Amino acid sequence: MTVRLRGHHLLCMLTYVGKGYTPAFSKNFDRIAGRLAEGEDILLVEGPDDICAPLVSDCGAHCPSETVRQRDRDALAAVGGFLGSVLQVGGRFCLTSTMVAHLRNGFMAASVGEGDMRRACEGCEWASLCTTIAGDGYPGVRLAMKAAHMDRTHADVSEQRVNGLRQIRDRSRRPAPAARNSTPVR
Ligand code: SF4
Repeated sequence: MTVRLRGHHLLCMLTYVGKGYTPAFSKNFDRIAGRLAEGEDILLVEGPDDICAPLVSDCGAHCPSETVRQRDRDALAAVGGFLGSVLQVGGRFCLTSTMVAHLRNGFMAASVGEGDMRRACEGCEWASLCTTIAGDGYPGVRLAMKAAHMDRTHADVSEQRVNGLRQIRDRSRRPAPAARNSTPVR
């Protein structure tokens, strides 16, 4: 099976703790987090994806909007740049524990103004929650890679993450990206 994901959900999956727009949205996101943790293939798509699915029949949903599509493009550029690879619609890959830990390190650093991995988060109503989750070391996140998808460098990356946390906690926290008057998105 393949999980269809839009660009900015590569960020959202890192901090998702079960909170969402509706119970159906969260239930579906929980299922997808479980599938990703099992190592299912990701197919990058344009526009509404498997996480958006419970919302797209709502005519007020922001999922198809240009604002959210731009968020996707920003996220693909930032995450791809962080990983040192080109991420684009149509691309396929699988998550590994190392990749998720590495992305969480980058997200955490961007939450205190180091790097631009969270460029796509600007204007999102969930930004301060995601900043808190990252700053606290990702307690309760639903995406937890299964043992079968751990790899040899997992321990090294986990140690880096802990060290990164210590450094970040030693600094005063900066505010989350400034909110804009744009449609919020998760
Ligand atoms: S701030 Fe918004 S776009 Fe960024 S990870 Fe959180 S929910 Fe996703």
